[in-house]
Amino acid sequence: MDSIEKLANIFKKFPTVGPRTASRFVFYLMKQPKEKIEEFAQAIVELKNQIKFCRFCFNPFQPDSTTPGELCHICQNASRERKILCVVEKETDLVSIEKAKKFKGIYFVLGGLLASYKKEDMDKIRIEELKERIKESYRFGMPKVDFEEVIIAINPTPEGNATSMYVERELKQITSPTPFKITHLAKGIPVGGELEYADDETLESAFEGRK
Ligand SMILES: [Zn+2]
Repeated sequence: MDSIEKLANIFKKFPTVGPRTASRFVFYLMKQPKEKIEEFAQAIVELKNQIKFCRFCFNPFQPDSTTPGELCHICQNASRERKILCVVEKETDLVSIEKAKKFKGIYFVLGGLLASYKKEDMDKIRIEELKERIKESYRFGMPKVDFEEVIIAINPTPEGNATSMYVERELKQITSPTPFKITHLAKGIPVGGELEYADDETLESAFEGRK
């Protein structure tokens, strides 16, 4: 396999990139000066070396002087309502909810959806990690928190609904220090729709009407 093909095969795996776009990326890069190419390669290596996953919520972040520890900016912020935990499927959902500026609690990134109720699929999402954090937040860099509410904020797609039901069932089984409510976002995110693409107002009313 030559270098052109090798790189095109890498780009082809990027979200939304097909073979034709992948080839265009390669030819675009070939025309760039050597310094630009080195800068590009360096930026990729830095991404992997400098970004950490938050020890509590799994949100990726770049540690700096304000977040020297292992927690992301949200988890470190003592003015957030830490008794309210919002469970999302993926990082981009968290970003959309933050952008709407309505929710003031903290998050947990589940890392995927259940394709089925088979064990191998259940092992792919962070359900055990979620339960551990609710039971013993202090083991993961947080102060001791007695959660009052866990909001399940997962897309209302068939896989999303199956995942929400599974998460709820698992959460009902845990004996946390204090009992907590389990809520779901209000309808409003279009059925089959994606939280990631909902506008701020829709997200706001989905949070306000949660039950
Ligand atoms: Zn965090």
